[in-house]
Amino acid sequence: MSSTLSQGGLSYDVVDPATEQVVTTVPRTDVAGTDTAVARAQRAFETWRQVAPADRGRLLHRFAEAVDASVEELARLEVRNAGHTIGNARWEAGNVRDVLTYYSAAPERLFGRQIPVAGGVDITFHEPLGVVGVIVPWNFPMPIAGWAFAPALAAGNTVVLKPAELTPLTALRLAELALDAGLPEDVLTVLPGKGSVVGQRLVEHPDVRKIVFTGSTEVGKKVMAGCADRVKRVTLELGGKSANVVFADAHLERAAASAPYAVFDNAGQDGCARSRILVQRSAYDRFLELLEPAVKGVRVEDPASESSEMGPLISRTQRDRVAAYVPDDAPVAFRGTTPDGPGFWFPPTVLTPVDPQDRAVTEEIFGPVVAVVPFEDEDDAVRIANQGEYGLSGSIWTRDLGRALRVSRGIEAGNLSVNSNSSVRYSTPFGGFKQSGLGRELGPDALHSFTDEKNVFLAAE
Ligand code: NAP
Repeated sequence: MSSTLSQGGLSYDVVDPATEQVVTTVPRTDVAGTDTAVARAQRAFETWRQVAPADRGRLLHRFAEAVDASVEELARLEVRNAGHTIGNARWEAGNVRDVLTYYSAAPERLFGRQIPVAGGVDITFHEPLGVVGVIVPWNFPMPIAGWAFAPALAAGNTVVLKPAELTPLTALRLAELALDAGLPEDVLTVLPGKGSVVGQRLVEHPDVRKIVFTGSTEVGKKVMAGCADRVKRVTLELGGKSANVVFADAHLERAAASAPYAVFDNAGQDGCARSRILVQRSAYDRFLELLEPAVKGVRVEDPASESSEMGPLISRTQRDRVAAYVPDDAPVAFRGTTPDGPGFWFPPTVLTPVDPQDRAVTEEIFGPVVAVVPFEDEDDAVRIANQGEYGLSGSIWTRDLGRALRVSRGIEAGNLSVNSNSSVRYSTPFGGFKQSGLGRELGPDALHSFTDEKNVFLAAE
């Protein structure tokens, strides 16, 4: 019972998006089940916070080893539940292992400060908060959960994790692996169920001291408002509409070869997807010539196949949502292919020329659709990149180091890459500007977002 709680035998089907077949049935948690889980997590907190830092670190390291031994199993589960390609899913499971390993060293390094003051000294302690509620979307169920629970547990908190309704399976398995590794009962609890029920209850519950929410900006605003009611700590990782900025002096072949990966990876269901490619006008035609074969060459296949580069979308609803951005009269320049038969497939699609006000350019599509937009010079590139409410990620392709620095400083986004489309490394801070989020995950500082600093004055007399 430590990983799932449902009252009254409620359950629901989990569907494979590549086959549309039911994979399994899981319990559906309700409000009473959520309250029970929080009460248990609260009790577990009283002992978990007392575990000596070295022992807490050792347990997290054993959890990392258990994940390592299960990478293939977790990856295959994610292929079936989320339609991720097997290559990506292995990386995602490995990322949970790496994040756990990274933060397993943290309990012994959770240093406070000593500050000399008149009459004595002030010393500070980073105290754990208590029960942390983690609410995860369906697009990267494993890493996004791990980025929150690893530092939260390392800092001495207990965690109640609500996976997305569509993708609970790897989270449930991770909770079992935590128990196998020796973490005490109720230190990491997974509650499959609806956001409007379990998620909302975690936000409202007085004994949940912090919420880490990853998802849409729309729901994130509600979560933030709910947290404000109790001055609850909150970290928000929200939507994005990131720009991939290609200057004429860039290595165009490399930029074009990498651009499909930057937006079609995970079928475009990625907050960091570079779903706007901004190309300097003098290189625009050449870039499109290079991009076309790269896009048509994306292997959209059964995600369990080793050669698959893109799987299906998560659901029929999501496919319909994406398709609405590409009506029959949309300016489709070229697109890839999809397999025949069942599954929620949508082809990699390139739009150009696009009206800058078209909602395919201004809104987060969260699917394999990219708009290619020309720009004139550096100022124009930064101006276009900064349009809109989001500021999560982006790339700059140029061989001019000064330009790379100027444009990096100009773009309002939390995570930029130069001559690369990578977004996330577990040892560096990750998070959004503007309405893409609040707070930072990963890296050394994220640990402190799961603590409150306490100051104690020691009198010298
Ligand atoms: P979503 O609809 O906002 O849902 C995210 C999570 O919140 C799900 O677990 C959902 O549960 C839950 N939820 C829904 N309503 C809730 C409520 N009233 N109170 C508390 N929780 C609630 O987002 P999504 O469609 O799953 O994911 C796509 C979005 O996530 C995109 O906008 C994407 O950009 C964003 N995202 C951002 C990042 C980042 O790092 N910044 C990373 C990944 C994804 P149910 O599943 O049961 O509805």
